[in-house]
Amino acid sequence: AAGPPLLELVGVCAGYGPIEVLHGVDLAVPAGSVVALLGPNGAGKTTTLNVCCGLHPPSAGDLRLAGRTVTGASAEALARLGVCTVPERRGIFPNLTVRENLWMMSQAQAGSRGRGLGRGRPRGSRASFAGVEEVAYARFPILGERRGQLAGTLSGGQQQMLALTRALGTSPAVLLLDELSMGLAPRVVRELYEIVGRLAADGMSILIVEQFARTVLPIADRVAVMLHGRIVDAGAPSEVEANLSAAYLGA
Ligand code: ATP
Repeated sequence: AAGPPLLELVGVCAGYGPIEVLHGVDLAVPAGSVVALLGPNGAGKTTTLNVCCGLHPPSAGDLRLAGRTVTGASAEALARLGVCTVPERRGIFPNLTVRENLWMMSQAQAGSRGRGLGRGRPRGSRASFAGVEEVAYARFPILGERRGQLAGTLSGGQQQMLALTRALGTSPAVLLLDELSMGLAPRVVRELYEIVGRLAADGMSILIVEQFARTVLPIADRVAVMLHGRIVDAGAPSEVEANLSAAYLGA
């Protein structure tokens, strides 16, 4: 039988001050699978991701990693355990060049090797700048062509590639992606999702938040639909697809 999910939320409630926005969320990301979390604006998707990476403590319920309860662990502790997030704003330095961003990544990675969940590089191995550059340009040749350009002036898709490079440099066990497709042309989104699909095929567990279903369904193994802080539908894409339009209308 399969082991416990790599990432699991059990009965998670969370909010801002007195206002609860997640009302008992159950969500599981099995090892090596892509789970798409869909839902309209304000449903609570970003809050859910923030609970998963330790940026937002739940007021009730549990976060589990590979069966181990880690509720309340800091973002740093969860990062060390292999949870990596690419936030909606992408987390890159707009006023640095692509190459300078990669240098910053190589410095950060040198300090964060050795994963708690059994994936990633051997403990103690160092991320050399040359190595980071080589891997980045091999995966995304356009970043090589644009190495001297300020990251803030890259196209949205190119910025997303740079953000993915940062995330993948740490060989995470669990990758959390927030609205990867936002503002990007469909062709670019397909390209990025192709890469995401390959990462999952290599064993990474991936939770993707998206507002719109179409682009993410082809690579998702499971879909969960969130509405007003609750998971209202979950299953294989084929099972959930028929109900999607209703969910988006808030019905
Ligand atoms: P979006 O696609 O717009 O990011 P979402 O599904 O990710 O939506 P959240 O960002 O998680 O939803 O927001 C859920 C609810 O929590 C919304 O009603 C939002 O207004 C509220 N909220 C989010 N962040 C804060 C905050 N810092 N303070 C107060 N309320 C917040």
